[in-house]
Order: sequence, then structure tokens, then C-alpha cells
Amino acid sequence: MDRKRMEALGKKRSVIRELFEYGNKRKAEIGAENVFDFSIGNPNVPTPKAVSAELSRLVSEGDPVAVHGYTSAPGSAAARSAVANDLNRRFGTSFGPEHLYLTCGAAASLTISLSALVEDGDEVIIFAPYFPEYKVFIETAGGKPVAVPCRETDFQIDFDRLESALNEKTAAVIINSPNNPSGAILSEESILRLSEVLSEAERRFGKRIFLVSDEPYREIVYSGEKVPFVTKYYRDTVVCYSYSKSLSLPGERIGYILVSPEIDGWEDIYAAVCGAGRALGYVCAPAIFQHMLPACAGLTPDLSLYSENRDLLYGALTEMGFSAVHPDGAFYLFVKSPDESAAAFSERAKKYELLLVPSDDFGVPGYIRISYCVSAEQIRRSLPAFKKLAEEYFK
Ligand code: PLP
Repeated sequence: MDRKRMEALGKKRSVIRELFEYGNKRKAEIGAENVFDFSIGNPNVPTPKAVSAELSRLVSEGDPVAVHGYTSAPGSAAARSAVANDLNRRFGTSFGPEHLYLTCGAAASLTISLSALVEDGDEVIIFAPYFPEYKVFIETAGGKPVAVPCRETDFQIDFDRLESALNEKTAAVIINSPNNPSGAILSEESILRLSEVLSEAERRFGKRIFLVSDEPYREIVYSGEKVPFVTKYYRDTVVCYSYSKSLSLPGERIGYILVSPEIDGWEDIYAAVCGAGRALGYVCAPAIFQHMLPACAGLTPDLSLYSENRDLLYGALTEMGFSAVHPDGAFYLFVKSPDESAAAFSERAKKYELLLVPSDDFGVPGYIRISYCVSAEQIRRSLPAFKKLAEEYFK
């Protein structure tokens, strides 16, 4: 490991964390109710009652070793079977516990998968806008992130740009749908074409190119949008999932890696995932959250609250003159910055106690991200502040 790089990562927080910490400081100074914190994706919709009930039952009734003890490194067989059954029921697949490795959330799913799939000097393609931590995770695995901008009209994949980025060094491509920060969902047409392009590139370069599907927002979709299940379209797929958003448990750290059984020699890839988890010191995923899964995998909280927030915020901001991507999923609104510099716009918004994340670290300039997994009441109370901010630009 590169000590200087680690020091630099420790000293310079991500722009999201920076704003989140600023918000905490500001809340202590002027009161939480006076700060309109739209910085981080901490879901405010309560975790489903069945999850809280199951956790209480496990804590109060369970045998301490069975509940709190180490599990096998890939996760308890019962929990992995529950996840496999839930996926098979929803997507008509035939996964078994042997294809699943439970993790401490999507960040761990990604770092483990990348360590398992990437060799020093390999390239990993990410589509901009992207989750900023991808760069950190790829570089830590010894890879080089290669950003490919999406089409700005609809945030689908720009296939000409993808074709020019693919080469013999490409080891993997990461997709994230529904997307943080744009809220866009990759259409079935995009996934079909992606699969064709990657299969063709595999033949051309005589090597495997893995598709890593980072999908913590899979269930958070509006208006019946479909999120294609990627293993059905592309053979060399690894899914990185997290219950952070779908069960409103981001601080608890539980998710999984699914190694598609369609991969030729998937057993070796699965072994590499187990090896990477071991090498990175992930002994096992948090035990009690694993044990909750047989009763709770597949549940979701009341997602209609996010859809109401989306409509409220999108409607109000566009009425004020802002333009924004209309999100089909996740809980972020990606708003075009009326200032040439998104960072300057974000700074100006702080004057009104509005915490909006500038888009530069997501790999595209000129937008701000609003995380609307907050109470509808916070959104309503923030609207006069947005109005004042709008008046500085649209007179
Ligand atoms: N990937 C994306 C696109 C995210 O938005 C996030 C968190 O916001 C993560 C990964 C990390 O998720 P987790 O908290 O489950 O590690």
C-alpha cells in the first residue's frame, strides 16, 4: 500500500463527506432545523417494521454465539440461501448460496470484487456521472479508472465513447442503475447493446471483460420502471448489492456479491472473491444483519415517500427556473447549475443554509446533486431558501 496516498485520502474527504461534516457543524451552531442538509444519502424512510421486529427478536431470544458469533466467511448458509431464493423468486433466476458472498454493504462489495477481478495496470471503465468513491476503490485494487461520459440528454450510455475507451487493458466496466447522482435507469435497450459491445470486445481482445453491476438502488424506482437484471443479459457479470438503501440501514453495513453462475469457471472467480475478502480483512458481514435476512430479504420500506419527495422538489425547482434531470429511480435530483461553476453555486447556496453537492467529483461539471431522502417537511421548509437562491440567477 502507498502510505502517502492513504495519508492524502485521509486528509481530503470526499466532497459529499466534506459537506456532510460542514452540515453537522452548522447544525450544532444554529440548530438542526435551520440547516437544509441535502448532502448525503442517509434514507429517512424508516426501516420496515418486520426488520426492526426481527432484530429485536434475535437480540432478546437468540443464543449469543448463534446471534453474535462469527459466521462462515462468505456468510451464513441460511442467509445466503434466503438471498438466492429472493432473487430467484423476483427474477426467475436459479442462483444458490454458493454464488453469494455477504459483505459490509456496497462499498465492501465493490472493493472486494475489484480486488478479485483487477490486476495491476488494468483499466476499469466507469460511466460519468459516477459515484466518486469508484476511483478510490479501483486505484486501491491496482487498476486505472477510465471515465466515459454518458449522453447528457438522457444519461444513457454513449456507445461511441464506450467503444473508443475499450482496449486490451480493460478488465471491467462498472454500471450503476438506478444511478447516483442522476436518478437515471439504464434501459433494457442500453443493457442489451452493452452486452453486445462487451461480448464483441471480449472476442476482439481475446479476454474476459467483467461487468460489475453496482445496484444499491435497485428497488427504489418510480412509475413502474424496470431495472433489467444484468446476469440475464451478459455472461461475465458480478452484482454488487447493498441493503443500505433498500432497507434504510446504511450505518449497519450489509450487502452481497453475486458471482453469476454463467461465468465460465465461476467457481474460480468466487474463490477470488473469498480470497479478496480475506486479504482485505473482512472476517464476515455483521452477524445479526445476516440472521435478519431469512425473514426480511426482499422487503422494502414505504417507497412512495421518495416518489412524493421527488415530485415536490422537481416541481418546485423547475417552477423557480432551475432545470433538472427527471429521476426515474434512486433518491437524487441532479440539477443544472445556473452558475458556470457548480462549486461556486454550492458555496452560494450555503448562504441560505442549503447543502447541495457540486458535481465535479461525479465526473461531470456544471450540476449539483440534491439528496431527497429527507422528510417532506424539510423539503417544504427549504423552498423559500431555494427561491431566494433562484432569484440571484433568474431575475
Ligand atoms: N454505490 C453507490 C452508487 C452509492 O450511492 C453508494 C452509497 O451511497 C455506495 C455504492 C455505497 O453503499 P454502501 O453504503 O452500501 O456501502
